[in-house]
Amino acid sequence: MHTEMLIGNRFEAGTETPENVLNPKTGETILHLPEASAAQIDAAMQAADKAFRTWSRTTPAQRSTYLLAIAARIEAEARDFATLEALNCGKPINAVLNDEIPAIVDCWRFFAGAVRCMPGNAAGEYLPGFTSMIRRDPIGVVASIAPWNYPLMMMAWKLAPAIAGGNTVVFKPSEQTPLTALKLARVMADILPEGVVSVVLGRGESVGNALINHPRADMISITGDVATGKKVLQAAARSVKRTHLELGGKAPVIVFDDADIDAVVGGLRAFGFYNAGQDCTAACRIYAGPKIYEKLVADLSSAVATIRFNDADDTQNEIGPLISKRQRDRVASFVERASEKSHMEITTGGKPSGQGGFFYEPTVIAGALQSDEIVRREVFGPVVSVTRFSDADEAVTWANDSEYGLASSIWTKDVSRAMETASRLQYGCTWINTHFMLCNEMPHGGLKQSGYGKDMSLYALEDYTAVRHVMIAHG
Ligand code: NAD
Repeated sequence: MHTEMLIGNRFEAGTETPENVLNPKTGETILHLPEASAAQIDAAMQAADKAFRTWSRTTPAQRSTYLLAIAARIEAEARDFATLEALNCGKPINAVLNDEIPAIVDCWRFFAGAVRCMPGNAAGEYLPGFTSMIRRDPIGVVASIAPWNYPLMMMAWKLAPAIAGGNTVVFKPSEQTPLTALKLARVMADILPEGVVSVVLGRGESVGNALINHPRADMISITGDVATGKKVLQAAARSVKRTHLELGGKAPVIVFDDADIDAVVGGLRAFGFYNAGQDCTAACRIYAGPKIYEKLVADLSSAVATIRFNDADDTQNEIGPLISKRQRDRVASFVERASEKSHMEITTGGKPSGQGGFFYEPTVIAGALQSDEIVRREVFGPVVSVTRFSDADEAVTWANDSEYGLASSIWTKDVSRAMETASRLQYGCTWINTHFMLCNEMPHGGLKQSGYGKDMSLYALEDYTAVRHVMIAHG
């Protein structure tokens, strides 16, 4: 197991407070990793600064070759990466190996291709006697900070468009899930020129805070909590840095009376609980029409009760534990507070599970009202609420009545109703008769307090490059 940070072209251990990295399935310590010192963070930023001068002058084709080489190594070492991710996050090995790793490899490959064909406005004589052209140029050094729910995937989403665009990056994984980042750091050190990517370790309030306030950072990219995003904005305001924010979500799921109930139940069983609900797009806030509500609650509760977890044979598991005891207790406290309200009923689940690890039973809460905490706040665990609506206007109003604006879905057999409803939702993504499906060609990102950065797609390349106008006078 790799334990050292990558600073420029050097591997070194942090010199500050050690962080306890846990196995969420057992609660046992995997290892302690000391965090980076101020001098080490500074050295990484200086290395990125120096590398930017040459990396930003490489051609898209050259950068593309590097990205393809990284993709090939991840693919070749897929099982090792997956085993490490499963250990550090508690994820079922099959979910990492079959769902995450192919999407991660494809992300690197997508940006390797996309950077070679970036679109733009036509050059032309927009004033007589002058030719104008548009350039998209790299921004500079990016301080990039990731969460714990999909560590290697978030690293791909953040690094691939940034370095494809000609930027250099100092990357900090979550202090809870640094193991695959350290392995990828070894791969990147083999492939990339010195300083293009450095990987530093540490907690948000120390190392993260130093990164976002570092004078050499030209841009801050963060995926995390809304509260963390606000701190990033405060830090960015001091020197007017660019920011790329991917924050939380509380996805509404509107189920009309004419929906295919089996498809809805299958979809919610999968996409409300994938990654134990630790997903910013999780299908967790269900609004059901008056005629379908009772059957949906009954069928969904029965289906969710069959979700397999904490089986000794990991190949049988569909979901893993929560990432930490703190997160498990947080989820439990949401459910406890909901259970104290007489109008809500926990129709399945509702308790922590197992010994030692941080498992929580997949849980359905019926009878929730729009004003309830369980409907309004991000739980980030295997818990969904179901609320009955009376008509489409009410469903859309409630769906939009949220501080978040990341993802949403609509379930109906009526195409007109689906399109009309989709046009009224204020979410970065609306799925129709599905949920959660992502592809690297399409953007992922939110509105409102979910942030405004786009991951994946050409829009991410736009976020990590600056539009410039160059004008030349004739004669
Ligand atoms: P978090 O905000 O606590 O931590 C995210 C990262 O920010 C970590 O690396 C952490 O060390 C760092 N950080 C924390 N405080 C910081 C500070 N003051 N300065 C700089 N860095 C700091 O979030 P988390 O608990 O790791 O992740 C869960 C959250 O992330 C959820 O709210 C979830 O919805 C969100 N998320 C969003 C997306 C998306 O695409 N929108 C994807 C995944 C997760």
